[in-house]
Amino acid sequence: MKTKIIISILLFSFFAIINNIEISSPDGRLIVNLQVEKGVATYSLKYDNQEMIQPSRLGLKSNIGDFSEGLTLITQEISELQKSYDMSRTKASHSEFSANKLDCLLENGEKHKITFTFIVSNNDVAFRYTLHRQENDNPKSAVIFSEVSSFLFPEGTTTFISPQSDPMIGWERTKPSYEEVYSADEEMGKRSLYGRGYVFPALFHTGNHGWVLLGETGVTSGYVGSHLSDFSPEIGYTIAYPMEGENNGIGTTYAGIPIPGSTPWRTITVGANLKPIVETTITYDIVDPLYEPSIEYNPVIYTWSWLIWPDDSINCEDQVQFIYLAAAMGFEYCLVDNWWDARIGREKIEELSNYAQSKGVRLMLWYNSNGYENDAPQTPRQCMHNSIVREKEMKWMQSIGIAGIKVDFFGGDKQVTMQLYEDLLSDANRFGLQVIFHGCTLPRGWERLYPNYVASEAVLASENVFFNEGSALRQPFDLTLHPFCRNSLASMDWGGIIMNRFLSRDNASRHTRKTTDVFEMASGIIMQTSIQCVAMQPNNLDELPQVEIDFLKNLPSAWEETVFIDGYPGKFVILARKSAGKWYVSGLNGESNMKEMEVELPMFEPEKTVNYYTDDKNGYALLTEVRVDNSRKVTIVMQPNGGFIIN
Ligand code: CA
Repeated sequence: MKTKIIISILLFSFFAIINNIEISSPDGRLIVNLQVEKGVATYSLKYDNQEMIQPSRLGLKSNIGDFSEGLTLITQEISELQKSYDMSRTKASHSEFSANKLDCLLENGEKHKITFTFIVSNNDVAFRYTLHRQENDNPKSAVIFSEVSSFLFPEGTTTFISPQSDPMIGWERTKPSYEEVYSADEEMGKRSLYGRGYVFPALFHTGNHGWVLLGETGVTSGYVGSHLSDFSPEIGYTIAYPMEGENNGIGTTYAGIPIPGSTPWRTITVGANLKPIVETTITYDIVDPLYEPSIEYNPVIYTWSWLIWPDDSINCEDQVQFIYLAAAMGFEYCLVDNWWDARIGREKIEELSNYAQSKGVRLMLWYNSNGYENDAPQTPRQCMHNSIVREKEMKWMQSIGIAGIKVDFFGGDKQVTMQLYEDLLSDANRFGLQVIFHGCTLPRGWERLYPNYVASEAVLASENVFFNEGSALRQPFDLTLHPFCRNSLASMDWGGIIMNRFLSRDNASRHTRKTTDVFEMASGIIMQTSIQCVAMQPNNLDELPQVEIDFLKNLPSAWEETVFIDGYPGKFVILARKSAGKWYVSGLNGESNMKEMEVELPMFEPEKTVNYYTDDKNGYALLTEVRVDNSRKVTIVMQPNGGFIIN
């Protein structure tokens, strides 16, 4: 990985205190205005001269002082930031990041200093706070109680947001785990489901002006994960810290930092249309890897018995079937889910792992994160919650050739839980293990920070399509919303492509899947995670048309570029992603009407003939060819809850 940062100082220390500071993006279209008036600091944001965020509060309250009022601006400095780097496990393999940076040094009534930093690229704004030592070199640490940082949108803005859950509710008291429904195009004034505000990412449509996506990045063991408060007409949405009841009430809701020390970055992605919202890499652009990978971690695909054959499939015979399925499809991994220690046993897992490796497949193993944070009963328990047990467990896994772990049921967003995530990742790296989190928080820049981190669930995923028909009915809406919001700021272990027509082992009982086969195949391109689950079942090998099998065998899960083509959150989405130099254009229709549209595909040469997968009348994939016309346009058709793929 090559990282180059050039900082050049353009301006420094005005003689007079200026209370109104403007910083613009390199292309000049995005402008942030920072004001300090009567001791209160606010910022506002305009894109193409349209107001996207109205004057909103800045500052925090801590045990070393109140930095939310009584503020005086001391100095300001604008510099240029350029960064060029490679990354893996995200929507792009390379980023050229260029931005302007504003550092404002302020002091409060007690002459205690704080810096407000803004980074402004062409479509992204990120801000954070840094606390400084006093002249006597103290204090050297601080506790941050709360922030007044807020986001006030223009009147008429509609929201695409998901509520934060009450703590210690839901199945075996495992919430919050970012598994609530996203609503679309709702007005701002509506109270959140639990009165606990909303989780990141949060998407806003600011009237006819454009779109704003809010997120957070750089949250490590050094801070809490935050979310948004409920809406207030005067203030908008405010940064909120974890709830007291999270993590079974253990651990503070405050954040502890050394001084000098900073808060994480809060990110604001802005666009006149949805293209910058889908293509942003801001989550990765402003953080750097925290350690080196111990081995080379590669993107792969895994099979998974648990989704449709649940707990009953955790036995040797069934796992052999899923290992065989992975081998037959050329997939690299097979995930053995919960209860494997009890139902298969450690000795047999060793044998199973050897068998898998003889077929060119490696196992991933499921673990409970507990601990004390909830009542989730699944085992293995008490193997991941501290470094002593982890060391023993991971050493054993390495000795039998296990490739990675899926750790489930975490305690929330408190700093003590962030520490657990980080320790787990760093320990796993020592043993060459890749890590997927479930029942968990939103990852915040983790693909870049931790080289063996793969993805987190933190979404209502495929398991719900299995659990109940209501979720199966909502799946087309969900998967056409995530590319604009949840999956735009972070990889998502969404639970995989489902090829069974019925959500049952016999593929004839329980409820049906509501999407077409091409919808599912295209979702493997549109949903982004570098270790991807193709949750096809052993029976699918005989049942699916050869054209579908062949497509799935060659499905990539590492992307070099992502380009937004068209779409609207919850209605439809068309993206192009490039892998190994080849473009995959794909679309999902989240609605129950057929869509015929002309799309412009600048990645293809005029007159080029390309493969075109579309739905036949029985919901199977039909492979034909289409010619890209002179102006690089193609007419595509998406059936209700269907899709298309061009490659
Ligand atoms: Ca889950």
